[in-house]
Amino acid sequence: MEKESPLVEDREPPGHGIVSALKNVAAHTGHPCIASRRTSSLVFNKSANFSTKSWQFCREFFPGTSKEEWNDWRWQVAHAITSFHELHRFLNLSSGEREIFLMNGDHFPLQITPYYLGLIDPDDCRDPLRRCVIPTIQEAARRPGESEDPLHEEHDSPVPGLVHRYPDRVLFLVTDFCSTYCRYCTRSRLVGKEHHGQSSRERWQMAIDYIERTPRIRDVLISGGDPLTLDDDRLSWLLARLRRIPHVEIIRIGTKVPVVLPQRITPSLVRLIRRHHPVWMSIHFTHPAEITKEAKEACTRLADAGIPLLSQTVLLKGVNDNTEVLRRLFHELVKLRVRPYYLYQCDPIVGSGHFRTSVTTGLDIIAGLRGYTSGFAVPLYVIDAPGGGGKIPIMPSYQQGYEGHDLVLKNHEGKTYRYHDEEPSPKRESATQTDSPRESPLR
Ligand code: SF4
Repeated sequence: MEKESPLVEDREPPGHGIVSALKNVAAHTGHPCIASRRTSSLVFNKSANFSTKSWQFCREFFPGTSKEEWNDWRWQVAHAITSFHELHRFLNLSSGEREIFLMNGDHFPLQITPYYLGLIDPDDCRDPLRRCVIPTIQEAARRPGESEDPLHEEHDSPVPGLVHRYPDRVLFLVTDFCSTYCRYCTRSRLVGKEHHGQSSRERWQMAIDYIERTPRIRDVLISGGDPLTLDDDRLSWLLARLRRIPHVEIIRIGTKVPVVLPQRITPSLVRLIRRHHPVWMSIHFTHPAEITKEAKEACTRLADAGIPLLSQTVLLKGVNDNTEVLRRLFHELVKLRVRPYYLYQCDPIVGSGHFRTSVTTGLDIIAGLRGYTSGFAVPLYVIDAPGGGGKIPIMPSYQQGYEGHDLVLKNHEGKTYRYHDEEPSPKRESATQTDSPRESPLR
């Protein structure tokens, strides 16, 4: 039985100033760079299933590691691969992958959990998961329209680490640490830089004070970095503190942990989250190859705790820009009780041009899904408008326009139908489906 995380609502924000998640991990597990190994203090997720592939990878590259260690999220973070020299041991690197390391530039850092690395093809640089997390020379190219902060989040931050763009909701960036860094990350300007840890207690306090004195905020999205890399005590403190604010109705957590570090979804974590319901969770899935036994168990545990699960997927060239791949992903997610929510056009972050498809590709994929599978298995395809315009839904055009009172419609098979509209609005006659209302810009 794991220890329960205490409810510590009345304390100051936990930690001593900036407490690095990595240092915290090292203190528990004895990361070889920082301290000697003390596995006896690990908190194991004993009941989890292992995929054969995962265990074979462990046996090959981490001989002597016990199943309990491999299945401990702190062990995974402490042994994350963070350098070219380490990567070399595991993968047959292509020339493009080597070149980026030889450049010695100030690039977005590398970090991959051993678990996720074990899912990657060691010999094929076109492997979809590999493209998501292994740097390549293509990142060195800056293309027109790219910027460090294309969504203008800094501009909409009333206090550091809090984005308040729309009246009733805020994005609270509680950490700049992720267990695994995605090469196309929208917040690559922040994550994995400087202290590899959560924001300082002062930043948390300023953000909480702001939320407390702004009664119109009813929805707080906790993101980062990855908030589920916080330990149970810190997360419990944060959720309890937000729950004490009467006008905060909904708490949302944005995370990729169930995908890259499913070991973190322990019974104790799930119990602590459910104490603060309603808490929703958006999970960043990219490809069906991520749906392993471990990820399934993590999602099942979260869903069984009554946490509504949504998925967010970035459309990525050479990774998932294909109707069949995304259909498989969304079908698997629905089976796991994860509702496909957003399909994002890849944001124009500096160095991400090789990931961006044309918008037409995205529209073709949506057209290939809608009508051909359950409606709730089809996410909303959105462009997060550069300049802070928010998420704008992009849809294939099913409305052909009005002919008199008839709204002419085209279905998913391209057949034409008419709907007699008693009172056609002259304004709507010229409308297209891209006129849909703006969605929240928050992730
Ligand atoms: S998990 Fe999210 S925040 Fe972390 S690197 Fe990936 S996209 Fe960025």
